[in-house]
Amino acid sequence: MTQPTPTRRFHLGLIGYPLGHSNSPRLHHAALEAAGFAGEYRLFPIPPGPDGQSQIASMIEDLRRCDLQGLNVTIPHKQNVFPFIDVLSEVAKSVGAANCLWGQDGLIYGDNTDVPGFLHDLAALGVSAPGVAVILGAGGSARAAAFALASTSWEVQVLARREEQAAGLVESLARAGSIGNRLASGTLDRANLERWSDGCRLLVNTTPLGMHPAVDGCPWPEDLPLPAAAAVYDLIYNPIETTLLRRARAAGLRTRNGAGMLVAQAALSFQHWTGSPAPYAVMERAFFAPLKVNTQ
Ligand code: NAP
Repeated sequence: MTQPTPTRRFHLGLIGYPLGHSNSPRLHHAALEAAGFAGEYRLFPIPPGPDGQSQIASMIEDLRRCDLQGLNVTIPHKQNVFPFIDVLSEVAKSVGAANCLWGQDGLIYGDNTDVPGFLHDLAALGVSAPGVAVILGAGGSARAAAFALASTSWEVQVLARREEQAAGLVESLARAGSIGNRLASGTLDRANLERWSDGCRLLVNTTPLGMHPAVDGCPWPEDLPLPAAAAVYDLIYNPIETTLLRRARAAGLRTRNGAGMLVAQAALSFQHWTGSPAPYAVMERAFFAPLKVNTQ
């Protein structure tokens, strides 16, 4: 008599601080179920500092022993995990951030799935380099977007309200590879927005302006027309259409919110951990179901 194949079980999770609400458990639980796997995806709020580092060290040992099969990493630990990683992907190295960890044969692997997740979703906008891309904001997600764009031949202008933050981002990405001559920085002010509007083919918002519940926020001045030839990508996914995207759509520009990027980075993580193709459509449906209440 043939024995039934045992169900594979995955213990997965997310480390970061603070974690608050996260969509990731919902996405990964749906993916595990659809793929016929057992297990769970848990949230591990780990504060920064020495205590946090020792908690991370202990979870890394769980990964090495395969007591845990995969971890996502978010703020503030995307760089803090570097010392624990034995095999770091080229993308994670260049961006200076890892958001996906797993163990294999006693080694810890680290990758950055935000970059390919962003590029995967950007394809849906139907824009391609060469051209000028303007990124608003210079935090963690701007770093992934700037690297993704510069490494696919866009000329990238990073604008932040603190000019030194934008300059620091560009400098550190430039140090890491051969994309430096495609990156520049400046202050996020009216003069620069006007200046870069002309040639801009892609506008990417990475600031939280417009995010639920402060949905009236917008990183682009109300009385300044949006770049006429640009597609607009907003990393925010709640609300599904931000004030920026609504204005862009009204101006006849192509738009995209950040939901696809979030789902794509999660799907790529799932593939690393399970070795199986991710049920992308299932994850996308699981993501959108509860968001409908906050659609503005
Ligand atoms: P972050 O590291 O805190 O960076 C935010 C950036 O926006 C910083 O440059 C910050 O400048 C700037 N900023 C904040 N408030 C501003 C304001 N009022 N005016 C102008 N600039 C402002 O955050 P993050 O992790 O990059 O996340 C940013 C947004 O992207 C959030 O809405 C997040 O939900 C979204 N996100 C989406 C995905 C996805 O998969 N779709 C992934 C990651 C993040 P200061 O440092 O000066 O405050």
